[in-house]
Amino acid sequence: MNRNSHGGARAGPATRAAEKSLSRGGGSHGPVKYVYCPSCDEVSVLSSMEDDRCQRCRRPAFPVRVSRRWQYWASAGVLLAGTALVVVTDLPQVELRFGLLLPFLLVAFSLSTWGLRAAKAGALARGRAGRARTG
Ligand SMILES: [Zn+2]
Repeated sequence: MNRNSHGGARAGPATRAAEKSLSRGGGSHGPVKYVYCPSCDEVSVLSSMEDDRCQRCRRPAFPVRVSRRWQYWASAGVLLAGTALVVVTDLPQVELRFGLLLPFLLVAFSLSTWGLRAAKAGALARGRAGRARTG
């Protein structure tokens, strides 16, 4: 339990560069990435610019690749449909346009939240499986 928390200096710049190029070539582009922390048994959602560290304990965590859920595409579709509707109807008042778009925004938001939760659950399962394999 009480392990040395300052072991992060082991990963040199070469390892880091390799990891960067690996994640770039992996096709998992996007604004966020998922990392699994074996110490807390937690998945953290980080921006792709950040280091692979647990958000809770700041220890090195390993990235888990998660494919996008259908909710992500559904949310994007809903948003696109709403925007298209606003453009097509061309309402004179901004308030009306926003009122028209609002339900679409809400649906898109809840869909993306759902998708994020599903992706996080998937990342957790994969992280646990990966930990079991590596020991
Ligand atoms: Zn942690």
